[in-house]
Amino acid sequence: MFTIKGKTCDWELVIGLETHIEVLSNSKLFSGASADYNPTVSPNTQVSMVDVAMPGMLPVLNEYCVEQAIKFGLGINAEISRHSRFARKQYFYPDLPQGYQISQPADEAPVVGRGWVEIMGDDGNPKKIFIERAHMEQDAAKNKHDMHPTKSFVDFNRTGVMLLEIVTFLDTKNPENNSYITSPDEAERYLRAIREIARALGVSRANMEEGSMRADVNVSVRPVGSTEFRTRTETKNMVSFKFIKTAIEYEARRQIEIYENGGTVTQDTMRFHQDDGTTSVERSKEDALDYRYFPDPDLLPLEISDEQIERIRSTMPELPSATRARYTHDFGLSEYDAARLTETTDISKWYDTAVAGNASRAKGVANWMISELFAHPENWDVKNEKSGIVNEMRIITPSDLAELVDMLGENTINGKQAKEIFIKMLDGESGTPREIADKFGMKQMTDTGAIEAIVDEVIAKNPAQVEQYKSGKVGLLGFFVGNVMKATGGTANPAVVNEMLRNKLA
Ligand code: ADP
Ligand code: MG
Repeated sequence: MFTIKGKTCDWELVIGLETHIEVLSNSKLFSGASADYNPTVSPNTQVSMVDVAMPGMLPVLNEYCVEQAIKFGLGINAEISRHSRFARKQYFYPDLPQGYQISQPADEAPVVGRGWVEIMGDDGNPKKIFIERAHMEQDAAKNKHDMHPTKSFVDFNRTGVMLLEIVTFLDTKNPENNSYITSPDEAERYLRAIREIARALGVSRANMEEGSMRADVNVSVRPVGSTEFRTRTETKNMVSFKFIKTAIEYEARRQIEIYENGGTVTQDTMRFHQDDGTTSVERSKEDALDYRYFPDPDLLPLEISDEQIERIRSTMPELPSATRARYTHDFGLSEYDAARLTETTDISKWYDTAVAGNASRAKGVANWMISELFAHPENWDVKNEKSGIVNEMRIITPSDLAELVDMLGENTINGKQAKEIFIKMLDGESGTPREIADKFGMKQMTDTGAIEAIVDEVIAKNPAQVEQYKSGKVGLLGFFVGNVMKATGGTANPAVVNEMLRNKLA
């Protein structure tokens, strides 16, 4: 059900995303030129003869790029094709010196076949989004139209860098199978899931702002309850979550209006206008036929062995979704805490190092990390497992935090003392939390006899307040607790003090 101006209407959305991620590798997909084309690199300095299609130059497949594709495929639970091919996709554009892009054929299984990722659906339940394929292809050059009033320039550094194109699946044979994206929010969650997997596996930086992740957005609408997919439009090269959501909304409304006025939607390629969030027809959609795909005669078919797949699988880290499940299931963390602790792989590694499989400190470590460490991002360096909060004087390591949490758990210190130790460490005090506690005489007073003596003393000294408390002003308990804590130099266990006072004043 789609809402227009807060009202649900009788139409539902069908969304298909084709996501391109720029794959991390030292060199390009078919040449030895560097694939690191970041903006600080001078234009046209990382270009080989192959990239600019000098006559007679032959492409050579980069094996590491293939591994990256397989890794990602395993990350999305996909079938890996043991046999696939490269094809030429012909089109003319100034940023494409070959006159064709080397890709994988549209009508054959590419290296990564059918897979899925799980997202949260709009109903709050887990939802599988099926993926039809992910194929390897070359990126094009970059046209530069803003360098000269009357001239355009081309920077070929990006030419031939590997892209992985990930295409979501629509089960046209079983239209009731709704494992596809049906709202702008689901589109965003899907893209975030893809980004998370790509990053965790080191396959791509998958960063929309820098253009290392871009998406083509296919949208159609249909009456609620209908089982046919209607004509879709495609808006290409979208580079922000916000624009993608705006474009889907706008496009859905435009199509609904056409149908409600008795018209038909044509299968067009749309252009998105960032300034007002609208789309307009750019050109009518090309067919796969228009590209005259044919197998590239310069490249052998891609053969992948079971051993190769198993070797890659064995080196893969735990994916963030699995880490989150482990945190909520084994450690009893909330979904929110689990999400915060898996924002990057470095953070979850740090957390796991501190917990070290010891479930009793799992919640404590999570709380300290989220409320204290994340509050000091300027000092926090998680790149290195050993480091934590870093300033010129010292580093708070995972084992420091673990020790602090353990001391609290054993009741050797109270919360206030733990905080003091933490601040001392931040200020550069050397030594482990236990050593710091010893050095500053921070021990929780556990001798109940000694606490009781002080409690009695505080009660004896304040007869007026005792009177008031007994006549119903129970809010005064805090006054007594405060006085006892003060008399013990903040070392008494507040829970013990509270209980003792309540009993004695009753
Ligand atoms: P092409 O490569 O020509 O753009 P594909 O058939 O590969 O077309 O589909 C591209 C994307 O569009 C896929 O994610 C697919 O699921 C999606 N798609 C196909 N038909 C529809 C439709 N009727 N409504 C919405 N999305 C669609
Ligand atoms: Mg397309």
